[in-house]
Amino acid sequence: MKDILRVEDLIVDYVTRRGVARAVDRVSLTVGENRTLGLAGESGCGKSTLGRAIMRLVPYPGKIVDGRVFLDLDEDIPYENGVLKKGEVEITALDEEALRAVRGKEIAYIFQDPMTSLNPMLRIGDHFVQILQAHNPEMEKDEALERGKEVLESLGILPERIGDYPHQFSGGMRQRVMIGLSLVMRPRLLIADEPTTSLDVIVEAQILEEMAQLKEKFNLTMILITHNLGVLAQTADDIAVMYTGRICEVATTETLFEDPQHPYTQALLESVPDVTKPDKKLSWIPGAPPDLVEPLPGCMFHPRCPKAMDICKKKVPKLVQSNNGGVVACHLYGGA
Ligand code: SF4
Repeated sequence: MKDILRVEDLIVDYVTRRGVARAVDRVSLTVGENRTLGLAGESGCGKSTLGRAIMRLVPYPGKIVDGRVFLDLDEDIPYENGVLKKGEVEITALDEEALRAVRGKEIAYIFQDPMTSLNPMLRIGDHFVQILQAHNPEMEKDEALERGKEVLESLGILPERIGDYPHQFSGGMRQRVMIGLSLVMRPRLLIADEPTTSLDVIVEAQILEEMAQLKEKFNLTMILITHNLGVLAQTADDIAVMYTGRICEVATTETLFEDPQHPYTQALLESVPDVTKPDKKLSWIPGAPPDLVEPLPGCMFHPRCPKAMDICKKKVPKLVQSNNGGVVACHLYGGA
């Protein structure tokens, strides 16, 4: 299986008045073609920043300070100043023009809140026209609208609604429109950041099902960012768990749910209800993640970890191969 995305030692900092907060701390990972990688963890663990950094869309005052991101292209991509050649390109080294050619066309991003991502003054059709003509200025408006209608129809939205404004749609329909806008350029990699967080559970289930169908139809590779492990159980092939900007554990979804290795992963799973185990006692993780402006030495989970040892307060554990076929960063498994 070919890797579409490769992230190497990525570091992202936010420079705040109080000091520097390292939101992504030397993250390395790969995403295989047609796989869905779930990024999981509590709020503030760096998963959204990592997703945005892959597209070089980290909001101010955030900055990629080190590391590299590579994307595999399956064809040459011409742009104003040249051609990006088929094969692996380094996203972190592209100039703005080349980056614009890759964004939307090769990698698309679905943001959390569709209402703030859609322009309330524009009809849905105008959003489609803007995106399509930005990548293909010769495309006629009518052709762009037809492409938009096709995508809307595949998401269960009547094509004639392309003339409506965002406020005329329900929350679930607006999120479908956002998914449609992200897919209209037929990207290879889709990064979906909490795409169903603001929706009720029934609409959430419908949209997740539709996304799974679209993934097949458009041959997509996906990164799905969510704090909801239940969502990942249904949709992800692999899961990477993050804590304080670092990767704790990566495994296939099945393995992670059946045989979690990292104490943080185990604690997260113990806090999720399971309808197949009505007697399961739910627990919570005591305390809160540390302040990233004042990072702790060693493993930053140590104040909350029931298995913490002396070494955990001194040394950062490295990712090592775990017994279940995944990788884990914990001194219990020799990560020193
Ligand atoms: S390294 Fe130590 S503190 Fe961190 S998760 Fe493992 S056992 Fe717990």
